Amino acid sequence: MSGSMKLSLKLLVDEEKNRVVFAESDKDFVDILLSFLTLPIGTIVRLLGKKSSLGAMDCLYKSVENLDARYFQAAACKTMLLRPNNPSRVQCEGLALRVDDSEPLVYYKCPRKRYNCGFSSVPGARCPCGQVMEVPFVAMNLDGAEGSDGVFVRGGTSFIVSDDLSVKPVSMGASLALIQKLGIEDGSVLAKRNVELGAEEVLSLLKRSLVSKRPLTDLFLQEPDMIDDAENSLKSIMEVIIQTRVKYRSTATDSKRIDVKLFLSKESDKVVYAEAREDLVDQLFSFLTFPLGSILKLLDKHSSLGCIDNLYESVELLSNSYNYMKFKECSDMLLAPKLAPYFGCDNQLLDIGEMCPQTTKVCHKSCFGLPSATITCLHGVETKCSYEMNPKFQTSGTGTGGGFAKEMMTFMVTDEMEVTPLSPISAVSIINKLMVPINSLEEAQASLGEAEVLNLLRACLTSSTVLSDVFSPNLLTLLHERWCGQHPSKSLL
Ligand SMILES: [Zn+2]
Repeated sequence: MSGSMKLSLKLLVDEEKNRVVFAESDKDFVDILLSFLTLPIGTIVRLLGKKSSLGAMDCLYKSVENLDARYFQAAACKTMLLRPNNPSRVQCEGLALRVDDSEPLVYYKCPRKRYNCGFSSVPGARCPCGQVMEVPFVAMNLDGAEGSDGVFVRGGTSFIVSDDLSVKPVSMGASLALIQKLGIEDGSVLAKRNVELGAEEVLSLLKRSLVSKRPLTDLFLQEPDMIDDAENSLKSIMEVIIQTRVKYRSTATDSKRIDVKLFLSKESDKVVYAEAREDLVDQLFSFLTFPLGSILKLLDKHSSLGCIDNLYESVELLSNSYNYMKFKECSDMLLAPKLAPYFGCDNQLLDIGEMCPQTTKVCHKSCFGLPSATITCLHGVETKCSYEMNPKFQTSGTGTGGGFAKEMMTFMVTDEMEVTPLSPISAVSIINKLMVPINSLEEAQASLGEAEVLNLLRACLTSSTVLSDVFSPNLLTLLHERWCGQHPSKSLL
């Protein structure tokens, strides 16, 4: 984080109701807000100290932390999930205050200097020569960071940001609309207030944007202990279920599906746990690598998370109606962010693109990380290309795909998204903890296509009883009755 740098912000406050009407700011603050959309879920969980309030994501993250390295495809997989790369990490380096504390331009190379040696964005990946790549180096201009005039939005403009994070170019009309929307008739209750924003406040704002409808008020006007952290849990679980019912039907034809064995308690209408292969675990772990903006795109701006959907809509407006984005690519980075190179995974069913890996130039005199256009190095020696390697491959390579979780393993996934290697003894203790009578347990086979995975993602973000929300036994029966003709007879879905 950029040291003790502070940003100042002007707020218009309704003093009677003690709430922020809007903030007036330049591009710096807006760029920081918009950069939230580039952050992978795993980064958000990590930055918020595993107290993100994002449904079951904290638990999923802790599962990765606790899972022994031998249950992953390669040693670097764990690092990829716990510290996923931000696809716009080079651009975010230009923010006035950086939210993410990872080193954007650091790559890792092999201690040997053979001509076929590669490099990686993840420490601990395997080099083609067999060594572990862990010598950090700063890449020179691999991606070409842009100048200082704004990161995502164009400089020279002022913006107003509403309490629920709608961002618009500054105008009297937009300001009056916000004042009227709050039912303020008497202008004497309005007062101007100057506030300062440091790295700590930006992190609080990130968290509030995911759980609250009024993050600016929470941050600047409330006492910390007056703030309710549990707003998301009020969200109706029925909403998830209704979505589930609507979507199930459309996917009977998915070419690729994930099979899972569920252990249900009909009495309590709960899924106690699931027995899964690496394909489901890969899918779940992949959620940690998804940039927030890509999730809002998948959920069509209906994430029900705080007011982050408004921020996403603001980018659409700023790029379409107002054309305030710096480049067309900036809109794409925020509205449809791709995964960082090699963070995609074969078993992941949702439609998210992956960025192309990097290439750099090396010479045998140890120059490394030279821009790709360099023909001779600093010593005048002829250079050769060096390629970014896929950290998920045990024996290294430049192919995409691969998986995170070890193949041919069986895992247990609890309703809260605790993922562990399958153990009958742990299963019994889970059953006991939930106080479910063992003789009421039933086994069911389910199969997930793209739509079901989307519901799984939604539930992971908003609920701590993920499997029950998505596969509630009553729902299974209902679906079976209604659509059994369209599904394989063996399966309940
Ligand atoms: Zn090597």
